[in-house]
Amino acid sequence: MYRDDSDGLQAVRGQLVSYSARLLDDGLAVGSAGNMSVRAADVVAITPSGVSYAEMQPEDICLVGMDGGEPEDGNPETPSSETPMHLAIYAATKAGAVVHTHSPEVVALSASRPELPAIHYAITGLGGPVRVAPYVRFGSAGLAEAATGALDGRSAVILRNHGAVTYGRDLAQAYERALLLEWLARTYRLALSYGEPAILSAAELDEVTAESRRRRYGERRQP
Ligand SMILES: [Zn+2]
Repeated sequence: MYRDDSDGLQAVRGQLVSYSARLLDDGLAVGSAGNMSVRAADVVAITPSGVSYAEMQPEDICLVGMDGGEPEDGNPETPSSETPMHLAIYAATKAGAVVHTHSPEVVALSASRPELPAIHYAITGLGGPVRVAPYVRFGSAGLAEAATGALDGRSAVILRNHGAVTYGRDLAQAYERALLLEWLARTYRLALSYGEPAILSAAELDEVTAESRRRRYGERRQP
């Protein structure tokens, strides 16, 4: 059903292991909590269930088809319990990679607020204020549905009493967005300690998005 591991797929396995180790270093995960995946053509490479990030090896990375099917000879480990949510995000967006964490600032916010508001203009990098999706049990089809619904127009979603999900064109971008989301949640909590913080309006965010586009366009046109 699947081709033998290509060079590209080997590289993806290596990336998933190295970014998994970064999750621990960056304080976004403990033990084996959270998971990440990369889409490679018709296959999704995803971290295994229950293998600690410190011990994960490239050969532990699992492969699943877009329909959730596994290779005929099986995977050496069990794919992440959140595989249905990852597959639903690939089906609903143009994601090339998905990162799911239980990062502490985001989890704290998820239990207390309906969304992460625009405390800083960098939130435009996630598409705007980040919604908190309703609580649904981990690993369920309902959670996959809740996550994709709340992702509309965003590259990040917060799962109530659970964690964070970000996606990007590749693993580097999805991971940077996970870091940005955690930083924004922390910054919002710090701002709340002074009282009720000022929040950027939709018009102010639109202005930032337009200016960012203009500058990127200018960079590309330089000789
Ligand atoms: Zn989780």
